[in-house]
Amino acid sequence: MDFRLSPEQVLYRDGVRAVCARFPETYWQRVDAERRYPDEFVRALTDGGWLSVLIPTQYGGAGLRIVEACIILEAINASGGNAAACHAQIYTMGALVRYGSEAQKRRYLPEIAAGRLRLQSMAVTEPEAGSDTSRITTYARKDSQGYVVNGQKVFTSRVQHSDLMLLLARTSRVEEVARKTDGMSLFLVDLREAGSSIDMRPIETMINHETNALFITDLHLPPDALVGTEGAGFAQLLEGLNAERILIASQSVGDARWFVDRCVAYAGERVVFGRPIGANQGVQFPIARVYMHARAAGLLRWEAASLFDAGEACGAEANMAKLLASEAAWEAAEVAMTTFGGSGMAVEVGIERKFREARLYLVAPVTNNLVTAYVAEHVLGLPRSYGTGGRT
Ligand SMILES: Cc1cc2nc3c(=O)[nH]c(=O)nc-3n(C[C@H](O)[C@H](O)[C@H](O)COP(=O)(O)OP(=O)(O)OC[C@H]3O[C@@H](n4cnc5c(N)ncnc54)[C@H](O)[C@@H]3O)c2cc1C
Repeated sequence: MDFRLSPEQVLYRDGVRAVCARFPETYWQRVDAERRYPDEFVRALTDGGWLSVLIPTQYGGAGLRIVEACIILEAINASGGNAAACHAQIYTMGALVRYGSEAQKRRYLPEIAAGRLRLQSMAVTEPEAGSDTSRITTYARKDSQGYVVNGQKVFTSRVQHSDLMLLLARTSRVEEVARKTDGMSLFLVDLREAGSSIDMRPIETMINHETNALFITDLHLPPDALVGTEGAGFAQLLEGLNAERILIASQSVGDARWFVDRCVAYAGERVVFGRPIGANQGVQFPIARVYMHARAAGLLRWEAASLFDAGEACGAEANMAKLLASEAAWEAAEVAMTTFGGSGMAVEVGIERKFREARLYLVAPVTNNLVTAYVAEHVLGLPRSYGTGGRT
C-alpha cells in the first residue's frame, strides 16, 4: 500500500491549485452574494481539461481514473472554491461512458471534452419519492417516434448551465414490475431541443447552488436518447452514484482541510488574554481532532476510489467515505465558527459561506441516515430498516 501521490498526480494537483489561485476568496464571495453561477471558474477548469479527465482518450478526454478526479475536486475545495458548480460534469459522464452506444459516445463525448457541450445535470429526485427512488413516477411512454415523457423532478441542479441532462424515468409502472427497482430507464436529454416541454423553476436555497423544480410535459425524445438497456436504468445509475459519492467525499475532505488551515492560521495570530488563542487546549484540541477525522475519511475515500478503479464492488466504501467526509467537513465548519468567534459570522471572512456549503453533503446526494441504514444492513447484516429502492 502506497498512499503517496505519484509525480504525475502531484502535477495534476498543482495544476488545479494554479487555476484556483486565480479565483480568490473575494471571487467566491462575490458570486455567492450575487447568487451567480461561477461561469469564469468553470470555463477555466474546462479550458484546462480538468472536467474531462474521466473521458477516454479516444473521445478526446484525458482517460484518467477516479483517483485523479478525487485529487482535482479535493484541491478545488481545499483552496476555498466550490466544486459543486461543476462536479457533475465529471461523474455524470460515467453513465454515458459505461452504457452509452458507440454512436452516443462519438456524438457527445468529444464535444464535452472540448468544452463545447456541458453535461452537468442529473434529474433523479422527485417531490413525492424523495430518497425512495423506486417511487418515482416520471414516465417515458414509448411511441412510434421514440418516447414521450411526463412528470416532475425536484432539486435538479445546473440545468440552466447545461446542454445535456441525464434523466431517470419509469418505462414500466411500479405495479407492472417484479422488483420495484426494475422498469426505470436512463435518458440523455438534449436541453437545447426541449423547448417549453420542460418548465424550469429555480429553487432558492441557503447556498449559491443553482437548482430547480422541473415540470415535464410531453417531452419528445428520439429512440437513441435511451442510455443502456430499457428498464435497467436504476442499476446503471447506482454504479454512477458510487463515483459521485467518492467525488463528493473528496470535496468534503477538501472543505475540512480548508477549515483546518484557516483555523490554524487564525488561532496562531489572534491574541486574547496576552497569548494566541491556539495556545489554549480548548481551541487547539478540536482543530487537531477534526484534522485527524478528515485524514481518516480521506483514507477511506482512497480505498473506495481504488476499488472503483479496479472495477470491484465499492458500494460500502463509497457510502462510508461520503458519510465520514461530510461529517468531518461539518465538524470542521463548527470548529471554525468557534475558533473565529464573532468574526466567523462576518461575511468578508469567508467562514460562514463555507459553513453553509459544507452542510449540503450531510443530505445530498444521499442522506447520511440512508447511508447508515445501508451499512447496518448490507455490511453488518442487521435487519432491513428501510424499503428497497433507496439510493444506496
Ligand atoms: C442543493 C441541492 C442540490 C441537489 N441536486 C440534485 C440533483 O442535481 N439531482 C437530483 O436528482 N437530486 C438533487 N438533490 C436532491 C437530494 O439528492 C435529496 O434532497 C436527497 O437525496 C434527500 O432526499 P429528500 O430531500 O427527498 O429527503 P427525504 O427522502 O424526504 O428524507 C427526509 C429526511 O428523512 C430521513 N429518512 C427518510 N427515510 C428514512 C429511513 N427509512 N430511515 C431513516 N431516515 C430516513 C432522511 O435521511 C432525511 O433526513 C439536491 C438537493 C439539494 C438540497
